[in-house]
Amino acid sequence: MECAHSKQNMVLGTTDERSRSHLSNCAECSRIQTGIDHSMQLLDEPVDVPETLLSRILSRKEISFSENKKQKDFSLFFQFSTVIAAAIMLGIVLGFHANTQILNSKNKRKTDALIELREMHHLNVDRQPLF
Ligand SMILES: [Zn+2]
Repeated sequence: MECAHSKQNMVLGTTDERSRSHLSNCAECSRIQTGIDHSMQLLDEPVDVPETLLSRILSRKEISFSENKKQKDFSLFFQFSTVIAAAIMLGIVLGFHANTQILNSKNKRKTDALIELREMHHLNVDRQPLF
């Protein structure tokens, strides 16, 4: 439990009295804390960066980015046209083999029923007295 509390404080970068006393008694936690301190000291040391480094990185990045972009655009166009062509072919095949007789007969029955309803309604309206 003490090791877990101490490691949690190491991760968060905080220290309290409990973890400080644990670090003086626990060899493993003390070793980890020493490694962290050493790494942080290395990060704080100034580093000499050549002035041309940024421009070299940017030029390499632009070259690779433009190469990727050209390939990506072509492949996207190819994928899109393939999907569209497949959808059109699927529509043609399904349209040729579709059985529309059932749909047509249902639509005809529906239309007949609507016409019959309208005529019955008009007949009823005509039979009602106006005043
Ligand atoms: Zn410990």
